[in-house]
Amino acid sequence: MKRLVPVCVVLVLALTAYMLQQSSTHTVVAQSRQPAGTTHTGKAFRFNKVKEGVYHAVGTGALAVVGNSAFIVNDNDVIVVDDHVSPAAAWVLLEEIKEVTNKPVTTVINTHFHFDHAHGNQIFEPGVQIIGHEFTRRMLLGNPTGMPLYQRYINAMPEQVETLKKRIASEADAAAKAKLETQLQVLENNYASQKELKPAPPNVTLSTEMTLYRGAREIQIRYLGRGHTAGDVVVFLPTEKIVITGDFLTSGLSNMSDSFPEEWVASLDALKKLDFDTVLPGHGDAFTDKAKIDYFQAYMRDVWTEVSRLKQKGVSVEEAAKQADLTKHKGRLPIQGPGVPILAATRIYELLDQRR
Ligand SMILES: [Zn+2]
Repeated sequence: MKRLVPVCVVLVLALTAYMLQQSSTHTVVAQSRQPAGTTHTGKAFRFNKVKEGVYHAVGTGALAVVGNSAFIVNDNDVIVVDDHVSPAAAWVLLEEIKEVTNKPVTTVINTHFHFDHAHGNQIFEPGVQIIGHEFTRRMLLGNPTGMPLYQRYINAMPEQVETLKKRIASEADAAAKAKLETQLQVLENNYASQKELKPAPPNVTLSTEMTLYRGAREIQIRYLGRGHTAGDVVVFLPTEKIVITGDFLTSGLSNMSDSFPEEWVASLDALKKLDFDTVLPGHGDAFTDKAKIDYFQAYMRDVWTEVSRLKQKGVSVEEAAKQADLTKHKGRLPIQGPGVPILAATRIYELLDQRR
């Protein structure tokens, strides 16, 4: 009898703790365990409100987030479009969303499989729907961390850390030193989070289109053909006339390493047919100037023509990347110097070789 009381107390305490844990799990349905590398100073995101309940989330530099995301606050829930470069970045996004609304994140949409847009997927509880194209699921189930784009990104980190440490050691100016130290913290936190990375695929897929209805709000998820990857989707809000484009259309030049440039031009024609007036891109600021689509299409056509011409002449891919002349697009697009990115030239060589 003497021992029975403490046992009862322990049982009651354990039960209470369990119930508390359950209730907190239910109030924060979206997130699982807090990942490493979430420490930062100030806000990690700038939330630009585009229309009532529609936000474009752009990184401030306080945390490595890389791509932009967007989120849509509905009557009873929140839908997030893209979840950044790491579990830490996705976690902090959700923490900051809580400052805007206490409604739960029930749904995530992956615009495509690239690491800077979908590597936050793992933090979501199984009850959260992660929607993406079936190709995106296939890629995230495959070997996404073995992809050249990600390999380049991760392999560069140790050297970047060393370089920053040397610069900090030799910096005399206190303000400049503090800035470098912040950069180092951002980099080290990102590296810590990347070490915990376990890419998670969408648990709901589509091949052409899907529509979500949330009260009066209609959220269309559209696949418009191959482009930046073989499985990009855009999120179209017909009432608000907003389109969230990931890297299918950015405010500058979109990476071409996994692209189908010729088909991408046609897929962008399909995008133009949607009735929108605001673009929330996966990189860069939101914009309304639809002429940007024409500029990017013209650039891509010329990249294809130039690189193909050089390949036909027997020029190496490295030389083709240097020699391809796209200077006539300067002024309309952020082109630095002559040439095209090596990843773009490599991709076009690869596609031309596949045609043989
Ligand atoms: Zn991408």
